[in-house]
Amino acid sequence: MDFNLNENQLNYLGSVKKLVKNEITPHVLEMEKFHKFPWGIINKAWEMGIMNLCVPEAIKGYEIDAISSALIIEELSYGDTGISTSAMCNDLANVVIGQHGSDEQKELYLKPFVEKPLLASFCLTEPNAGSDNSMMTSFMAKRDDGTYILNGSKCFITNASYASQYTVICKVGKPTGNFMACVVIPVEQVTSKELPDIGEATREITLSGGGKIIIGKPEDKLGQRLSNTASITFEDVVIQPGQIIGDRRFGFKYIVDVLDYARPMVAAIGLGLARRALDLTIEYTRERKQFGQRICDLPVARDMITAMWKKVELSRLALLKAVCKIEEKAPDAGIYASLAKNTCAEAALFCANEGLHLHGGYGFTMEYEISKLARDAHIIDIYEGVREVQDMIIGRELV
Ligand SMILES: Cc1cc2nc3c(=O)[nH]c(=O)nc-3n(C[C@H](O)[C@H](O)[C@H](O)COP(=O)(O)OP(=O)(O)OC[C@H]3O[C@@H](n4cnc5c(N)ncnc54)[C@H](O)[C@@H]3O)c2cc1C
Repeated sequence: MDFNLNENQLNYLGSVKKLVKNEITPHVLEMEKFHKFPWGIINKAWEMGIMNLCVPEAIKGYEIDAISSALIIEELSYGDTGISTSAMCNDLANVVIGQHGSDEQKELYLKPFVEKPLLASFCLTEPNAGSDNSMMTSFMAKRDDGTYILNGSKCFITNASYASQYTVICKVGKPTGNFMACVVIPVEQVTSKELPDIGEATREITLSGGGKIIIGKPEDKLGQRLSNTASITFEDVVIQPGQIIGDRRFGFKYIVDVLDYARPMVAAIGLGLARRALDLTIEYTRERKQFGQRICDLPVARDMITAMWKKVELSRLALLKAVCKIEEKAPDAGIYASLAKNTCAEAALFCANEGLHLHGGYGFTMEYEISKLARDAHIIDIYEGVREVQDMIIGRELV
């Protein structure tokens, strides 16, 4: 394993660092205070080619490997993890199309993302089916003419209010059965021009093919306030057979494939946050003096900074191993995806919490970015599978 970055990776990282330094960090506290959707940054990220990382070369004209993707996401997350969550959500929704879609589906459902800065949503979680998605009740019933009718509700869906396409996992066959399907529902295309900011509004989409999609009011979240999260209801949505990805009964297998790719990307989000917390803390404790010394020179405080650095570096190792496993298409990629997700989430929480502590009372105010990081960090341990689910996967693979 070579830890040196190639020229291409260095170029990408250089431009993302510039974007973060010039456009995100100076304004992030103000932006997140007003919960305004960061279309401006999303549009720039799209122009720079750092969105839709998973779209294959045949559609995009070039390919970005999983290692470079993780590095890009880490760097963007150093700026803000709400923004990177929104940006990488396109990959969460679209990776399955690249992996299991037909050539026609790839052209139809991936090309629009290359042509315009559009957003996609991945709809798996339901009110009564979170960690245990086998309990989902969204169901697609087959009709005599060969089409299907989808009904059901999803919750906590990233980008839901702004999405131009929804990838939906639902039951098929019998509502209480085990078969799941993965379907793609393109809707009216919305960019920053058509829908600059949803505010607290709901969105209702009447589909030309039949049925309705109703998107709830955006969630008012503790952290990652620059990402959009909302519930979605599918009402009698007509699904053509061509909208079904792969085999209509293999949705569960496809979820596993999606998450094996996406969990290391969430790990990269966590690592970016942990690194930002470490840097802010070093900066602050170098400036502030107590007991006649810089806080960073007080031995117990320095131990804590050392512990933060160790978490950052060790989680980078876990992340790199997980993305190398994706690149190798290794059969044990899943266990390393879970390891990376948990290790990086733990680093994010640790560095944000200890960093806040080392800022003292100032860290507890909204004026200091470390307080935002402490709010943002929690979700990294929850979305795309809570910590316990990752441990369950690791335990199951071991024995
Ligand atoms: C900001 C945000 C964005 C999200 N984006 C998306 C998205 O784009 N698409 C999508 O489909 N979903 C999304 N989610 C949903 C997210 O993936 C779920 O919240 C998550 O999987 C946990 O499900 P739950 O909230 O129902 O928690 P539950 O499953 O109810 O779990 C609650 C707690 O119970 C414990 N627990 C659960 N299972 C076990 C276990 N096996 N063993 C021991 N303890 C356990 C854990 O402590 C866990 O935190 C998002 C959520 C948020 C908040």
